[in-house]
Amino acid sequence: MSPQIRARVRERSRNRCEYCQLRQDQSPLALLHIEHIIPKAHGGGGELENLALACIDCNLHKGSNLTGIDPESDQMTELFHPRRHSWQEHFEWRGIYIVGKTPIGRTTARVPHMNSEEQLTLRSS
Ligand SMILES: [Zn+2]
Repeated sequence: MSPQIRARVRERSRNRCEYCQLRQDQSPLALLHIEHIIPKAHGGGGELENLALACIDCNLHKGSNLTGIDPESDQMTELFHPRRHSWQEHFEWRGIYIVGKTPIGRTTARVPHMNSEEQLTLRSS
């Protein structure tokens, strides 16, 4: 991946994880990753449209998942897609907790462990 593409992805996301909104300055020891929204394993490419900035936690927990189970309906549901979906439409803040407002939001908040203890600690810094 070229340095220009990396810079564009960081700039576009305003240096925040596009899933949990963690800012780079809240994660001083770990550089936010540039991840493939549709993983390479599923045919995702390296074009800007398919790249997103993600914190280590979101990136590792998302892995190569594209879907998860909505905890409310028990239905298989697609995960949040930072290019196609609007964060505000699918999630909201309750204090330092991220709460899913829609099936996509609920499923994504659960799969990448957006409210793990580590995440909450970083977020409150
Ligand atoms: Zn994150």
